[in-house]
Amino acid sequence: VADHDTNFESVSGKRVAVVGAGVSGLAAAYKLKSRGLNVTVFEADERSGGKLTSVMQNGLIWDQGANTMTEAEPEVGSLLDDLGLREKQQFPISQKKRYIVRNGVPVMLPTNPIELVTSSVLSTQSKIQILLEPFLWKKNDSSSKVSDASAEESVSGFFQRHFGQEVVDYLIDPFVGGTSAADPDSLSMKHSFPDLWNVEKSFGSIIVGAIRTKLAAKGGKSGDTKSSPGTKRGSRGSFSFKGGMQILPDMLCKSLSHDEINLDSKVLSLSYNSGSRQENWSLSCVSHNETQRQSLHYDAVVMTAPLCNVKEMKVMKGGQPFLLNFLPEINYMPLSVLITTFTKEKVKRPLEGFGVLIPSKEQKHGFKTLGTLFSSMMFPDRCPSDLHLYTTFIGGSRNQELAKASTDELKQVVTSDLQRLLGVEGEPVSVNHYYWRKAFPLYDSSYGSVMEAIDKMEKDLPGFFYAGNHRGGLSVGKSIASGCKAADLVISYLESCSNDKKPDE
Ligand code: FAD
Repeated sequence: VADHDTNFESVSGKRVAVVGAGVSGLAAAYKLKSRGLNVTVFEADERSGGKLTSVMQNGLIWDQGANTMTEAEPEVGSLLDDLGLREKQQFPISQKKRYIVRNGVPVMLPTNPIELVTSSVLSTQSKIQILLEPFLWKKNDSSSKVSDASAEESVSGFFQRHFGQEVVDYLIDPFVGGTSAADPDSLSMKHSFPDLWNVEKSFGSIIVGAIRTKLAAKGGKSGDTKSSPGTKRGSRGSFSFKGGMQILPDMLCKSLSHDEINLDSKVLSLSYNSGSRQENWSLSCVSHNETQRQSLHYDAVVMTAPLCNVKEMKVMKGGQPFLLNFLPEINYMPLSVLITTFTKEKVKRPLEGFGVLIPSKEQKHGFKTLGTLFSSMMFPDRCPSDLHLYTTFIGGSRNQELAKASTDELKQVVTSDLQRLLGVEGEPVSVNHYYWRKAFPLYDSSYGSVMEAIDKMEKDLPGFFYAGNHRGGLSVGKSIASGCKAADLVISYLESCSNDKKPDE
């Protein structure tokens, strides 16, 4: 805040169009508005929130998209404080109890090195390999890279070098399946886990890097009188809100006036005309009933629509088409989300905690789902007290075809997996199904070319900034941080424009 407050007046009243009312676009709009800029959000859908979408129906509350988020990014803490959302924050009961399936049964994940020693999730050999990682990790050589020279090392290759194949199979594979619907062989380490990628660059060993980073943070905190309460809160782990994740975009929307947010307004084209050095962007949008509108005069644009949607937009620069054919095709992971309820007496082995993830290797035991969140164990107010509510994910790169299956077929698949995992008997009391055709962009081995294309768009189109989950991370927190960063860049850009203008005035 302090960075820009000094020059606040020079950008106050400048007009910024934000495309997309997912959490990144709304966070950007919120920040811009709070700095005195004039924002207008355009959202293709009839609702805001994008991948944050909660449903309240028949006494149940569930999330169809993101279920929880963390406060690892400082921007999240500031936003929650500013929006007064702290009292609505809802922390899962026993969230440290998370399970991985091993030999067909859920095994609790260790939460510290001592638990790791006694846990049955890994063999003794892998446990020793983890403890000795500072001495045993192998450097990256070209043989562990994928054949294409420009491609990045895979997530599996990286963790294999540090901890061995069993850790990849039983910890990394289910984790990336559960957080990005992807598989560790396809994901680029550099783009999926940039922090760990850099830890290796600085320290070599991940264990040494983690310990030293933790110690440095502790040392820093004790001397840092300004350390925000958010830092401490961040360590409280994952959370949602009373009423579900949708509360967050709803509160962000509340901060905007009716004129500042246009729902049902799909942006079709954007046009940039240099010259006066201000208000040189215009855009056109269309609603579901085909009403077209031309919106004129913006000083800058924050684009947060997925890149597959940006690719469809017509962009003009100085009256000439600005072709977006340099944007690479992105692979998206399809995912079905099935929300089921069972009467408590029909769940013979309920598990307390966050949820269970199923490694690909465990498919040999007949499992077909990626994992299940124990939604009502985490948040008991999500269903009547005689029921358990579960949220199960199906598809992703592991089974793209199954993601598209009918609700009936998926109900059988989910019931069968939950029968093995939790001992459910009979049919669910209720089933709700949501299919995401493009749930997550795949940060694959060629994702570097996507990042380069985003940089090129920004470089060639003055006043155009791209934010959202296609850049810098998939999580809600990272999307918020990306939106806030774009807002900061807009402000710096507009400040520099007004500084450039001053001599002529
Ligand atoms: P989006 O939410 O995709 O928003 C982009 C918006 O742009 C959309 O509203 C779209 O309609 C709009 N748009 C597109 N084209 C146009 C156009 N032409 N004109 C105007 N508007 C347009 N993250 C977590 O941290 N924790 C989780 O538990 C978690 N679980 C998830 C579960 C699922 C099933 C999914 C799908 C995602 C999950 N995520 C989770 C990821 C996280 O929810 C998303 O990465 C994040 O919400 C993305 O926000 P965004 O604003 O970048 O994009």
